[in-house]
Amino acid sequence: MTVRSGLGGPRLLLRRLREIMAEPVSPQTRLDKIVTQIASNMVAEVCSVYVLRGDGALELYATEGLNREAVHLTTMHAGEGLVGAIAESAEPLALSDAQSHPAFSYKPETGEEIYHSFLGVPILRGGTTLGVLVVQNRARRVYLEEEIEALQTTAMLLAEMVASGALQALVRPGDSTALRRPIGLRGQAVSDGVGLGHAVLHEPRIVIKQIIAEDLAAENARLDAAIEALRNEIDALIEGGERLGAGEHRDVLETVRMFANDRGWIRKLHEAVATGLTAEAAVERVQNDTRAKLQRQTDPYLRERLHDLDDLAHRLLHQLTGQSFVTAREILPDNAILVARTMGPAALLDYPRHKLRGLVLEHGGVSSHVAIVARAIGIPVVGDVANVTDLVDTGDAVIVDGGAGEVQLRPQPDVEIAYGEKAKLRAKRQEQYRALRNTPAVSRDGVEVKIGMNAGLIVDVQHVEETGAQSIGLFRTELQFMLASRFPRASEQEALYRTVLDMTGDKPVTFRTLDIGSDKVLPYMAKVEEENPALGWRALRIGLDRPGLLRLQLRAMLKAGAGRLLRIMFPMVATVGEFEAAREITMREMRYLEKHGYQPPSALHLGVMVEVPSLLWELETICARADFLSVGSNDLIQYLFAADRDNKRVASRFDPLSPPALRALRAVAEAGARAGKPVTLCGEIGGKPLDALALAAVGYRGLSMSPSSIGPVKAAILSADIGAIAAFLAPMLESGDDRQPLREDLRRYLTECGVALN
Ligand code: PEP
Ligand code: MG
Repeated sequence: MTVRSGLGGPRLLLRRLREIMAEPVSPQTRLDKIVTQIASNMVAEVCSVYVLRGDGALELYATEGLNREAVHLTTMHAGEGLVGAIAESAEPLALSDAQSHPAFSYKPETGEEIYHSFLGVPILRGGTTLGVLVVQNRARRVYLEEEIEALQTTAMLLAEMVASGALQALVRPGDSTALRRPIGLRGQAVSDGVGLGHAVLHEPRIVIKQIIAEDLAAENARLDAAIEALRNEIDALIEGGERLGAGEHRDVLETVRMFANDRGWIRKLHEAVATGLTAEAAVERVQNDTRAKLQRQTDPYLRERLHDLDDLAHRLLHQLTGQSFVTAREILPDNAILVARTMGPAALLDYPRHKLRGLVLEHGGVSSHVAIVARAIGIPVVGDVANVTDLVDTGDAVIVDGGAGEVQLRPQPDVEIAYGEKAKLRAKRQEQYRALRNTPAVSRDGVEVKIGMNAGLIVDVQHVEETGAQSIGLFRTELQFMLASRFPRASEQEALYRTVLDMTGDKPVTFRTLDIGSDKVLPYMAKVEEENPALGWRALRIGLDRPGLLRLQLRAMLKAGAGRLLRIMFPMVATVGEFEAAREITMREMRYLEKHGYQPPSALHLGVMVEVPSLLWELETICARADFLSVGSNDLIQYLFAADRDNKRVASRFDPLSPPALRALRAVAEAGARAGKPVTLCGEIGGKPLDALALAAVGYRGLSMSPSSIGPVKAAILSADIGAIAAFLAPMLESGDDRQPLREDLRRYLTECGVALN
């Protein structure tokens, strides 16, 4: 038998609920009134609210129709019964004969066995389940599509109550709602250190002040106007491509534009308004459903689309609420843990670093540039933490353990104590590293590895003294460019280089010319659209095609280096000819300066970064021409394995500690030794103790790394026998069998030998 839909329809229900929300009553009474109202409006004998608790159980919080004694006593476990199934799938479930459903189970204390029809919807926020709202009827009936819609809309109101903490008074001591529960999350260990603080969302969540509409026609008109304005905004952004900021890549915007014109999406929004929601609540409602569906997708392509849709919804909400893109920077507490979906290096540097205690990224791993910057400024980072921006709220207590790749949200006191201990232990270890500051890194068998430091900002340079680095083996000049709002003037570049040289005194500094392109975007420079930016127009390629830019920078370096040793290296050299061309430009600048009476550097060393595999087959020639070589293993490994260093699906698939990569790295070190040219390595692997030992074993006598890695790497070298490691690795490197788990074998061996691998 089919029964007509409820009396008065969803709009009347929402109006009544709005009145209940405004009444000065206790949370329980409000919830009781809400369920009574829903039941009567939907002509149902039962209406119940279940709230998902921190321990994963669904607790009955209010009911009309079931036994009231069961409230706060009846619980379902995850996946248990129909309610559990809805919580798990985050999808509505409508059944005219609930008891014949395989998932049906009933709790005798509720007295629900007499009800046949069942309609349940998830209470969602950001695609995450917070609870379940259910109506039941004694008679067998089919719930209409509009009733399901109406119940979903009502569930939004309950989601707001749970999320805003309005039900907090009903949570029993020791329990918590799922949203506020302590959660431990795992991600990638990106930048070492333990940070305790309070969460700040890099893109603050938009607050929707009114959920229920007063005038539907007006809401529809607002929605249409906002969609129109959004389309114009995106068109303008795409057309004025040169003004695109970091992260606003054209392909993302193109996808967003496609969705913004999608009729299905717009229809869904209007349907949501028709159920009685304001335009902004409708956007959230549709996005909630989309998130819930896509988050449960296993197809990575579909999951990726979620970000485009999030972006779209976010922009539309900005249009509707008129809330400007407030940057979290403006509301930063003193002990901030930044939480971001993605972030560019320039955006991170925009924050006052003395307030930052840590960074958590939903997307972004070890060799992303934001990670490099975070390491340079000493902020603990965990990357690739799934869903974290949904799970955390501004102000939540957060612990970031960058060494272990762990994040604790709203930690319980015992967890906090444990991490406090860890931080203390770490401080003790730092103390030991500081004691090694002036000790050269000489292994037990007398092999010395010179330890340099990577830098890119003035603030990094102070670490040279603190860590006892013997040089700055890589100074990434692009960071100054990425931070500026326009091309830094020649005088500004010169001033920076001079300050760096002044600060480091006798210790050599190797400046790398501008390495931009790929993910290092200059906001003020026209972005060239490329299918494969990592293989595209970047680094020295730009320098050679725009020699004016390169000349300006070289002149600034040469002037800053007057009367002292100046070392310059070129990034992304793919052929000997490119290095020659760069050298020619440098020498021309040198002649120009000399002709105009400037003092030249006392010595000029020109080096090449080995990070494009083609150079592996020109090692002899390049060694003959260059004064030194520096291996950029981040790029070299990504090109060797054809695996994007920033793409988590592939980045960790290939291990640099595997025979093919180690053989390639060894070939560079050996070629340098044969030609009598120094070879260092300045990629991230040089900063990991285990990897650093393997590098020393295949011939590296110079490594440059982030400041925090210097202590651990030095301690490892001091406690190791490099000759013995070389002998251990030799058969694996000669055997030609690439399937061996070299890293684990080496770790075991070194642990047995008592080598410090922290
Ligand atoms: C490298 O590629 O290893 C490197 C040091 O350069 P960057 O990480 O800046 O590309
Ligand atoms: Mg590189």
